Amino acid sequence: MQGSSASIDLEFDRFHLWHPYTSITSPLPVYPVRRASGVYIELEDGTRLVDGMSSWWAAIHGYNHPVLNEAILSQLGDMSHVMFGGLTHAPAVNLAKLLAGLLPGALGKVFYSDSGSVSVEVAIKMAIQYWAALGRPDKKRLLTVRSGYHGDTFAAMSVCDPETGMHSLFRGAMAEQYFAEAPLCRFDEPCGEDDIADLGMKLERHHGEIAAVIIEPVVQGAGGMRFYSPQYLVRLRELCDRFGTLLIFDEIATGFGRTGKMFALEHALVVPDIICLGKALTGGYMTLAATVATSGVAETVCSGDPGLFMHGPTFMANPLACSVACASIGLLETFDWQTSVKLIENALRSGLEPCRKLRCVHDVRVLGAIGVVELRNPVDISVMQKEFVRRGVWVRPFGRLVYLMPPFIIPEGEIEVLCSAVRDVVAAME
Ligand SMILES: *Cc1c(COP(=O)(O)O)cnc(C)c1O
Repeated sequence: MQGSSASIDLEFDRFHLWHPYTSITSPLPVYPVRRASGVYIELEDGTRLVDGMSSWWAAIHGYNHPVLNEAILSQLGDMSHVMFGGLTHAPAVNLAKLLAGLLPGALGKVFYSDSGSVSVEVAIKMAIQYWAALGRPDKKRLLTVRSGYHGDTFAAMSVCDPETGMHSLFRGAMAEQYFAEAPLCRFDEPCGEDDIADLGMKLERHHGEIAAVIIEPVVQGAGGMRFYSPQYLVRLRELCDRFGTLLIFDEIATGFGRTGKMFALEHALVVPDIICLGKALTGGYMTLAATVATSGVAETVCSGDPGLFMHGPTFMANPLACSVACASIGLLETFDWQTSVKLIENALRSGLEPCRKLRCVHDVRVLGAIGVVELRNPVDISVMQKEFVRRGVWVRPFGRLVYLMPPFIIPEGEIEVLCSAVRDVVAAME
């Protein structure tokens, strides 16, 4: 296959294609990729980059994995897609069985959608329909914490951090939600009264309007790459029960092993009422997400008027995506990924720790296969990107954050290649 693709028309890309969060009139440079395999991304000019991003949390098994390729190829021979209204198929059922088996007991009612943002929309609609069914149509707002990220569609955006989450731009067009202070207790610290007081106060004051609290458990991803105490989630669960609101965990980034547990909720042994999954669900092969509710929530949703859950995407439960998701979860069951993630965690910790003594560095933190160097000032992304590519690694910083989250299959030597590139590039900012 090598070299079989025609060269990419970068001029056309520049004038006609929007990339994520970019300008169409003065776009940042993009690097043309020819292929990707294992932990390497190969550019058109033959440059081979070690992947430090897993394509935004997703490619946990690396690229071009023979088992995942085979799952898609064999499914393709049966059907690539059929509508999910009135029809069903083995890939959808098998994946739901796997998810129900992996998630805590009560979470077992699976709704498939196309992307993480949509799975968040679905969770929010479920929460609102739940309260409507119980005769509480006044409970339709959300409470969340600052520094969160839940996606770019409207309801998801409304619960993103109000500063970094485009709220001023879309004010009036977007639902207004309640925000509490972000958890300050760090991952390895206990959670005291003070740490959750603001959230408790907002729940106490507004619970009559609040359908659900939505939060990313343990790791806040794109809103700041912050890790907080699992105990916070224990208190949060108690508060939600006390004040009668549902609890939604957004595990789109953290699900499938990234934090060292299959799901981040396992750090706290807290069970939400609804959980959102995406990103690594398909091993990064295709776009697919799932919103999984407890039986209690699902049954209540369907007990009210109109007796149905009101959502149904065209490409719901796409068989190719469900098959590759089954294969990706199957792969996790065939190797000791916990040990791999632990090894990555240790290597990231020793590899990134030296950055702490740099004046431009505010904090260094590592959890599972996530390593973060937080700077004091925002980076110039295209300058930094070029420096990383020059050093043979694919690392894409944002804001004040330079971070690594490599595929779980990365060899130890390549973790050091990533870390040494981060050390050099960050040191060059001094
Ligand atoms: C990426 C992400 C989303 C949005 O998922 P998309 O597939 O990009 O729509 C939502 N929540 C979290 C925590 C995420 O990391």
